[in-house]
Amino acid sequence: MLDVAAVRAQFPIFETTAHGFPLIYLDSAASTQQPTAVIAAVNAYHRQTHANIHRGVYQLSQTATRLYEEARNTVARFINAADSAECIFTRGATESINLVAACWGAANLNAGDEIILSTLEHHSNIVPWQLIAQKTGAHIRVIPINDAGEIQFDAYQQLLSSRTRLVAVNQVSNALGTINSVREIIAAAHAVGAVVLIDGAQWVAHGVTNVQELNADFYVFSGHKLYGPTGIGVLYGKRDLLNTMPPYQGGGDMIEQVTFERTTYAPLPSKYEAGTPNISGAVGLAAALTWIESIGLATISAHEQRLLQHATARLSAISGLEIKGMAAQKSGVVSWIVVDPPLATLDIGTQLDLRGICIRTGHHCCQPLMNRFGIAATARASFGVYNNLDDIDRLAEALTEIIAAARAKNTISPALQQEGWGNFKLTAAASPTAAANEIAEIFEFLPDWPMRHQHVIDLGDKLLPMPESLKTAATAVHGCQSTVHIAARIAPGTTDIIEFLADSDANLVRGLIALLQQIYSGQSAAAILAFDAEAFFARIGLDQHLSMSRRNGLAAMVQRVRTLAQQVASE
Ligand code: PMP
Repeated sequence: MLDVAAVRAQFPIFETTAHGFPLIYLDSAASTQQPTAVIAAVNAYHRQTHANIHRGVYQLSQTATRLYEEARNTVARFINAADSAECIFTRGATESINLVAACWGAANLNAGDEIILSTLEHHSNIVPWQLIAQKTGAHIRVIPINDAGEIQFDAYQQLLSSRTRLVAVNQVSNALGTINSVREIIAAAHAVGAVVLIDGAQWVAHGVTNVQELNADFYVFSGHKLYGPTGIGVLYGKRDLLNTMPPYQGGGDMIEQVTFERTTYAPLPSKYEAGTPNISGAVGLAAALTWIESIGLATISAHEQRLLQHATARLSAISGLEIKGMAAQKSGVVSWIVVDPPLATLDIGTQLDLRGICIRTGHHCCQPLMNRFGIAATARASFGVYNNLDDIDRLAEALTEIIAAARAKNTISPALQQEGWGNFKLTAAASPTAAANEIAEIFEFLPDWPMRHQHVIDLGDKLLPMPESLKTAATAVHGCQSTVHIAARIAPGTTDIIEFLADSDANLVRGLIALLQQIYSGQSAAAILAFDAEAFFARIGLDQHLSMSRRNGLAAMVQRVRTLAQQVASE
């Protein structure tokens, strides 16, 4: 049994609070937190041994070089590579896949060749293959999954043929937690002569990796998902494959000899590590791997399976909540949606955040997978070695509370129906600035972000209804995680007054729309163009408290109104 309290005590982040609550971190599939062992190793490297590597004759550079190369040896041991030269340091899983797609793909793909991916892939294991397919004329074929989120092996075997050049699949799905039978997937691909890349980003911190036993041709992962730093990752590749591929980037360290006529390349691993690498990242990664080994992956895996079972039991008992992905073999990931009452995952995420609980919401960079389930997003909790059963109980209790509150609200706010624009009327302030001042005064009066957040949600509840007939492709605003429609028009009987209706499936966004409506709707094009929205958002603290995607969504809505104002102003 793992002593979770002792493990947790090694993570300084858990000394912090979120909105006044103890931090409950359930987003390890996005990034794990770092233990003191890793933080201290990186710190000591910077304090005592930093210098550029490989070329320095002085002792400090040689020490840094030794640490960097020892880190490579640690990686090789961790994944059981035959030779550490087969382990290339990259920025992460994404760069590793791009490297293989670009270099192996350029040397090996021709028109009509096929690349097989699965429906479960992360965008970083889709888009690089699309890029090289477009260049070479190769085609992408996709392995379907069943409703539980498992790869359909029979369908996979039918896709395999003499045209298959490469199969790229993940070992664990980041969105659903499905553990794929990669050993069988690899063997079947090899039987038709195809090469296999395994995206191990979601596996390496949760079970033993043995690239030789798997017989993987390429295996990729990121440091920040196994208790290490960001900006460092690994590409493992079989020596013969790496040797016969062209280099990825040109620059220092990857050459043997350079003349203007001809350059020869350095042997592995330097051939694929152009420029000064992330030395401290490699040192931190090695410290993370050693730290994981000190606990033992068997112990970690057993602990996370207990968390998974508990979370699955608790969340499936909540009425109105539906778990997505019920594969027989899963790692510590639970993804869900709330269908009764329908709740935007963004709202679930922000409501949990206000209780100190960090989860991920959205498409998890797996839009094709979301499309397979006919949904736009899920809410996802993912576990690490530091999570305990109490974290999961807190999540389940908070979700029960959030759903109950949404239910109570739903029964008291009857949906208003209007056709077309109907008799839309909004009393406009004297100017956008006057409206902004009114809003800012209320924000200043509310003491903290949770109260301001609630105020925004309350405004959203009172948003003027937008008729369904106005929610078309033309009124959809892109750049938002949630669905947003905004229909703007010149107010009847005027030549330059702009008004708009908008709606979203997320309550927080509805609140932001209400703010925008208060500021812009009913104002002249000139006044709209003169108003500095960004400065206003900063003034009321939205720039600090909204996520990047939400800020982008807000900016996209503002842009839609401004575009119409510009058209009106230039007529
Ligand atoms: N593959 C999978 C399965 C992932 O979960 C992720 C990260 N979410 C990646 C690839 C990309 O990893 P990185 O962003 O570290 O390059």
